[in-house]
Amino acid sequence: MAVIIDGKKISSEIKDELKELAAKYKSEGKEVTLAVIQVGNDPASTVYVGNKKKACEYIGINSISYEIPEETTQEELLKLVNDLNDRDDVNGILVQLPLPSHIDEDVIIKSISPKKDVDGFHPQSVGALSIGQKGYVSCTPAGVIQLLKRSGIEIEGKECVILGRSNIVGKPMALLMLRENATVTVCHSRTKNLKEVTSRADILIVAIGKPEYITKEYVKDGAVVIDVGIHRKENGKLCGDVLFEDVEPAASAITPVPGGVGPMTIAMLMNNCMQSV
Ligand code: NAP
Repeated sequence: MAVIIDGKKISSEIKDELKELAAKYKSEGKEVTLAVIQVGNDPASTVYVGNKKKACEYIGINSISYEIPEETTQEELLKLVNDLNDRDDVNGILVQLPLPSHIDEDVIIKSISPKKDVDGFHPQSVGALSIGQKGYVSCTPAGVIQLLKRSGIEIEGKECVILGRSNIVGKPMALLMLRENATVTVCHSRTKNLKEVTSRADILIVAIGKPEYITKEYVKDGAVVIDVGIHRKENGKLCGDVLFEDVEPAASAITPVPGGVGPMTIAMLMNNCMQSV
């Protein structure tokens, strides 16, 4: 039986620590303010933005919301970001992705000042991470590191296999595990003999965006399995990239979906906001 890594509990602990820090900042006259921009009204984005605002409220971070129409042009959005970059009373800027197809996401991400890039997506933030310098770290992979550390799972010297090489999960995840002194292998859709590679992992981190794809044949006995994936099944239930019931008996520890990595992303966003003052 694997230990079930409780992301809800760990994220609550982090949020409570941040709440205390926010109160301390307030007593010193320091306010933290996050500007959140949502273009259009994609229902999933509305839920994510709502959760981020709720977390801000809980911790004591001010949030300013910009819910702007789908037809907003790239130039208009750039102007809004630039105005927020210039405001001393705004510490962090978050543009909820995905953006409508007429707006180039890369251009918008690059327009956010690296000093306010609390999502950690700016090329300067990514570059800083890759050469071990200070900067904002993408929230989901940062959350995975916290899950491992706060569950007492040793990373140093461990064989870590990461499934997925996206800019927001797989690549920063690999850099963070390297920073923690793991031996890191990154797999992707062209990896040959995938099961052979994943079966070497002491820590297997899965972010491929394929519902319940990873079965016990991919997992070494006693491995720690972190499932970043999130999908809604036809029956309305949520699942990850890992077939939980199949893999759990073989693993020593595993994250569930929901209640694993998901809640950590917002906690780490809040952590980045607190670093922005
Ligand atoms: P993505 O951009 O679609 O990237 C998927 C990666 O997986 C790609 O690198 C792809 O390889 C690789 N891949 C796809 N099929 C594969 C296969 N059969 N074998 C090996 N590698 C394969 O996805 P993402 O944005 O990283 O997200 C991954 C998952 O995490 C999704 O389910 C997403 O919803 C979830 N997610 C959750 C959170 C959270 O807060 N919990 C945050 C972000 C993402 P190629 O590069 O070769 O195409």
